[in-house]
Amino acid sequence: MLRVEANRRDFLRWLTTAGAGLAAAGIAPAVFAREAVAAGTEVVVVTGATVVDGTDGPARPDSAVVLVGDRIAWVGPSAEVPRCGSARVVDGRGRFLVPGLWDMHAHGIDYEDTSPPLFLANGVTGIREMQGYDENRVTRDRIARGELLGPRVVLASAIIDGPVSLLGPPVTKVANAEEARAAVRTAIAQRSDFVKVYFYLPKDAFAAIADECRRHGLPFAGHWPYRLRPLDAARAGQRSFEHSFGLPIATSSRRDEFLARLDAQPFDPKAPRDFFNLARELDRQAALAYDPATAARHFAGLKTHGSWLSPTFAVNRVISRPADAFAHDPRNKYVPREILDLWTGWLPLFTPVTPEQIAQQEVYFEAQLRLAGEAHRAGVGILGGTDCQNPYVFPGFSLHDELDFLVEAGLGPRRALQAVTRDAAAFLGRAGTAGTITPGKVADLVLLDADPLADIRAVRRIDTVVTAGRVLGRATLDKMLADAEAAANRPAGAANARSVRLPVHGCC
Ligand SMILES: [Zn+2]
Repeated sequence: MLRVEANRRDFLRWLTTAGAGLAAAGIAPAVFAREAVAAGTEVVVVTGATVVDGTDGPARPDSAVVLVGDRIAWVGPSAEVPRCGSARVVDGRGRFLVPGLWDMHAHGIDYEDTSPPLFLANGVTGIREMQGYDENRVTRDRIARGELLGPRVVLASAIIDGPVSLLGPPVTKVANAEEARAAVRTAIAQRSDFVKVYFYLPKDAFAAIADECRRHGLPFAGHWPYRLRPLDAARAGQRSFEHSFGLPIATSSRRDEFLARLDAQPFDPKAPRDFFNLARELDRQAALAYDPATAARHFAGLKTHGSWLSPTFAVNRVISRPADAFAHDPRNKYVPREILDLWTGWLPLFTPVTPEQIAQQEVYFEAQLRLAGEAHRAGVGILGGTDCQNPYVFPGFSLHDELDFLVEAGLGPRRALQAVTRDAAAFLGRAGTAGTITPGKVADLVLLDADPLADIRAVRRIDTVVTAGRVLGRATLDKMLADAEAAANRPAGAANARSVRLPVHGCC
């Protein structure tokens, strides 16, 4: 920083005139400074860091980022920033500053003692919560009002499925177009950010959801609705496809054969899991018959319709291995005992047992990585989501596993990091306010001890997290982790024990 000593007012005045900053972000600098002075808004300067800003531009060594309140106000060379006694300075020398991360497929933010701190301590400053219900709507609002420290929450509606469903409450089951429209109107009344669609929606109900969403300007996203061809769902407006369900079939030389088999199979109310199991097995077999020409047409269709893929490798990795493979994950200490018990109950419904099954699932998982890489190279948008709160998928921590998988899939460190920052924001319609380190955008940042472009695992090496302008240093983050661990390990039945209300579905 410059040796010039500036008081707070001078510093803010400098900010309003200092190059491509506030004005470029569409903020009237004078108004901004006046309001900041009046409100006594905290000024934070991260100085000396290499800024990896999430754009396609090069990393910028020895840079400073000035935060005023919850906004990024200025980004530029450290040497240009005047010294300001009243600003809080974060020493970024030798460190790397990246945008805050988004987990684009999360659950369970309402576990308020564990989920919000685990996300933030891992640099996850935003999540797309994939199932809305009363408790997590309350938590969303508490975070938004500043009553609870947590990531930004983009919240789904209730999951909307057909009259037969794998899921119990709080899923919304709709049998026809009329019920489907009513479900969308309920989602709007609950201030849902998008509608979540699910496997067993009847065709007419799906069409009604798409139409009602379009009329109200509400996005919808979710699982492959089996009664639709994936590209028809994409054409109708489905914004994302979760977990890679249906992707192997859609890109296979056996596509038509397998789709015909699924078309002929009813959803059995007495054994609702049967259809899912068949579809998953056909996906696995289809992955062995990848057809580049079929795939190219599918990817082109997704791209045309603006539908993204959300492969959720973190959860798919778990279900591709034997049920006890992750039983000793050290991060289990952050999971309430009663949830761990649920996990051990569900997981065997999905996991391979015989050596042959285990080998098959390994091949299938590798194929999913390849498919995501092919889709990415074809220009299809890829999201980074974990499906945390499903077995051995942990709030916050598992997004780092997802980053590893995205790199392995072929995105490379820069694109993987962009997937969970810039691209996530763009997908959510927040490109103007989030996702990159750019003046005018929200002050969600992560300061790392090592270079994420050299090795994506550096994103785990967190020195400081900034969430909506609030600075959480290493000591604070460690305390948050310790408190979350303590909360998770309170004995069930204790006065302050958690109640189990895990609404997560045991099915991604
Ligand atoms: Zn999920």
